[in-house]
Amino acid sequence: MKKKLLVTGLPDSFYEGKRVFVRVDFNVPVNGTEITEDYRIRRAIPTIDYLTRVGARVILASHMGRPKGRRIGDLSMAPVAQRLSEVLGIEVRFPGVVVGKKVESASKKLKNGEVMLLENLRYHSEETANDAGFSQKLASLADIYVNEAFGTSHRAHASTYGMTAHFEKKLAGLMVGNEIKFLNRLIRRPKKPYVVVVGGMKIKDKIGALRNIIKRADRVLVGGGVAFTFLAARGVSVGRCSVEKDMLEWARGALATYREKIVLPVDHVMTEAAGGGKRSVVITGDEIPDDMTAFDIGPKTVDKFVSHIRGEGTVFWNGPMGLFEEDDFSNGTSSIARAFALATWRGATTVLGGGDSVAALKKSGVNFSEATHVSTGGGACFEFLGGSELPGISILSDS
Ligand code: ADP
Ligand code: MG
Repeated sequence: MKKKLLVTGLPDSFYEGKRVFVRVDFNVPVNGTEITEDYRIRRAIPTIDYLTRVGARVILASHMGRPKGRRIGDLSMAPVAQRLSEVLGIEVRFPGVVVGKKVESASKKLKNGEVMLLENLRYHSEETANDAGFSQKLASLADIYVNEAFGTSHRAHASTYGMTAHFEKKLAGLMVGNEIKFLNRLIRRPKKPYVVVVGGMKIKDKIGALRNIIKRADRVLVGGGVAFTFLAARGVSVGRCSVEKDMLEWARGALATYREKIVLPVDHVMTEAAGGGKRSVVITGDEIPDDMTAFDIGPKTVDKFVSHIRGEGTVFWNGPMGLFEEDDFSNGTSSIARAFALATWRGATTVLGGGDSVAALKKSGVNFSEATHVSTGGGACFEFLGGSELPGISILSDS
């Protein structure tokens, strides 16, 4: 990324008194209203610090979860404003709304070096619809636009895409700059063998991104919820696990074309209780009985996957191997996390992406320093590494 596209690429004096809209990614995991992982908040500190130091008036905005246009109390940004105030040691203003008179007047009252955080952008369905009027309202709050939300850059929403048309200066935050720099190197010259580990639940997104990355990778280890579509495509029974029907055809083709590359689970940890829970956890081979749901990869699968995560080449991991939040189903994910850390120590280039994956790494007792790069993006990282252009990155310009 060109230096002048970075927020620090302009002379410091440029910012004095200017209102800067920073699209951040504060979509943090919460338990009720308690923030369980604030890595994404802390990753934005350098950019916020820089802007406050040079006298800008900083307006931060993010989404959290999927409220789908409704005001859901548990998805309020209020706890984030509080946590941000704590980590920055200043009072972050929180108007409690996204657009409208109250925010407009608050944005005008901001003094140089002050910071304000808007309410959850997705309280308005216009955000994901990339609505023109909503984009205009957001844009009217500020003079300069900064993208510091790498994790949302693969979405063309009002705050990541639509509103940027109203700005002359559209710059990258320091964290976004870092991500692009690191990931670009990985795209150009990945150390071989290049092993991709994919799991998690956003099946549709992930299989879409897999289409591209699979061509570049030497091995793709598929666990978590994503595996069942592949297993179903292979003709294995998957019980009550969800399958992305639209992707079955593609998965069948991929299994035929990339027979050697794709490694699927050979055993599972499962239960008959639909939502996980403690009831009769059993481990069997790759077939899942009709009345069962699999919530983790089994021990044979762990051994198989770990044998491919070695101290050489590149390992890119996105998505937990199971419902790791419940201890009964966390073994697969924590085993992969430990193998991942070991690979780093032995010299592999290791990249972890995804909000839940980062939480899973932490739960497994692995430090962030035991990965070469911890990306703030899951889907965005996946798509970028697959070679796709991200809307939120393609809009950056300073003219
Ligand atoms: P990331 O945020 O790292 O990109 P995702 O959002 O795609 O990952 O998925 C994370 C979620 O997937 C976790 O909450 C985890 O519990 C869940 N998950 C993974 N595998 C399974 C499974 N087999 N059954 C149910 N949930 C699963
Ligand atoms: Mg997630």
